[in-house]
Amino acid sequence: MRVYVASLATETNTFSPLYVDRTAFEQAFYCPPGQHPQTPTLCSAPVVAARERASTDGFHLIEGTATWAEPAGLVSRDAYEGLRDEILDQIRAALPLDIVLFGLHGSMVAVGHDDCEGDLMHHARQIVGPDCVIGAELDMHCHLTDLMVTSANVIVAFKEFPHTDFLARARDLTDLCLRAARRQIDPVSYVFDCHGLAAFMTSAEPGRSFVDGLLAMEGKDGILSISIAHGFQAADVHDMGTKVLVVSDGPSQDAKALAERLGRDILTWPESAKTVHLEPEEAIAAALKVGGQPVILADRWDNPGGGVAGDATVMVTALLNHPDIPAAIGAMWDPIAVSFCRAAGAGAQISLRFGGKAAATSGPPIDARVTVRAVTDDLIIPFEQSLVSLGPAAAVTIGNLDVVLSTGRAQTFSPEVFTKLGIDLREKKIVVVKSSNHFHAGFHPIAAEIIYLNTGGPYPFDLSKQTFHKLRRPFSPLDPNPWL
Ligand SMILES: [Zn+2]
Repeated sequence: MRVYVASLATETNTFSPLYVDRTAFEQAFYCPPGQHPQTPTLCSAPVVAARERASTDGFHLIEGTATWAEPAGLVSRDAYEGLRDEILDQIRAALPLDIVLFGLHGSMVAVGHDDCEGDLMHHARQIVGPDCVIGAELDMHCHLTDLMVTSANVIVAFKEFPHTDFLARARDLTDLCLRAARRQIDPVSYVFDCHGLAAFMTSAEPGRSFVDGLLAMEGKDGILSISIAHGFQAADVHDMGTKVLVVSDGPSQDAKALAERLGRDILTWPESAKTVHLEPEEAIAAALKVGGQPVILADRWDNPGGGVAGDATVMVTALLNHPDIPAAIGAMWDPIAVSFCRAAGAGAQISLRFGGKAAATSGPPIDARVTVRAVTDDLIIPFEQSLVSLGPAAAVTIGNLDVVLSTGRAQTFSPEVFTKLGIDLREKKIVVVKSSNHFHAGFHPIAAEIIYLNTGGPYPFDLSKQTFHKLRRPFSPLDPNPWL
């Protein structure tokens, strides 16, 4: 048996002022064939899962390119088509193939390509023919398109948010594809389109119990896999939104009905099931009422993982208005400010302008007299089995407030963003993290409480304030939901 595996991924916020070229992939994560590290990164987990099974099952594994760009705005046509064709050429050279495995995201949008992953898999299918099994792992924050579903035999999305299960789901995908290639199973996909957004976290109820229920259903009654494509609302594309994918062993009306039942179930969760978001002053007041410390405030709407810059100053301004509160915020993206701090050196007192550069929605820059607390050549932090680089970084102190500034854009996955620069979070009443929920696994053990912020942007949190030209309608909450 001959198996090919490759990974091409990013998450595209079509409203973001940041643009992605090939250099953005090469600087973030780019492994030529055979050079993928032992550890999986988020979307490249199928490479590691395929290696594991190659060693136990004895098939011939051909590794292709694996690459990832930090979420941002539109990918250039040259970057996408160049990477796509690189992978397609590798597939042609690897023929004949029994299985093609892809580690994708599912929400990559390039100039001229609203559905990069569907396009990639469609081209791959034309090369490998109808009998080769094509499998793809997607991030749950994907736009699940008909072209993806019809081009692949098996699609498996992450179930957990925060994404703690990317390797587990890659193993599921690899196993299902091997069984399909051995004709032990006949995967058939059923999709229910919720015509709206029903995103949820699995670090809290009711998402936790819901996903535990999905896991319990898999492997029984002919149900091979269940994925909830939550959707990624920061994209004006036709297929944005929540969809349920049930993969059954052979055609099954029960599987089709299950997809619809699960979709209707999520859509009817009560308002109380939704995550509460507090505005900056409300959140600071709420944090002060908590007995212990630190209280983690998640700046969800300036999370680089959602394709925005990560340089918004809303929370810096809010905390500077409370100079008595010991606080920290990070990591803010500002390569220029980092270069100034590194040149001045640790211990220097300098006048520094930082933040508020990428867009009008980033807020005004901060001008302050700061002490450069620490600098580093490369701030490397863990996220599950991955290591993430934020590049050269600096921590600066303004009174009771410590601010971590980074050269690379990446969300605040773990407390090491602060501790590696000498900031002791136990001394802080408030710690603001630039992350939506991936911070949760790392910060939950040290948090007295976690509060989610509504900082008003720059992420397009309020759909009614965005202009969508390509989104299919009706779409809730812009229109009444046709299913309810
Ligand atoms: Zn995601």
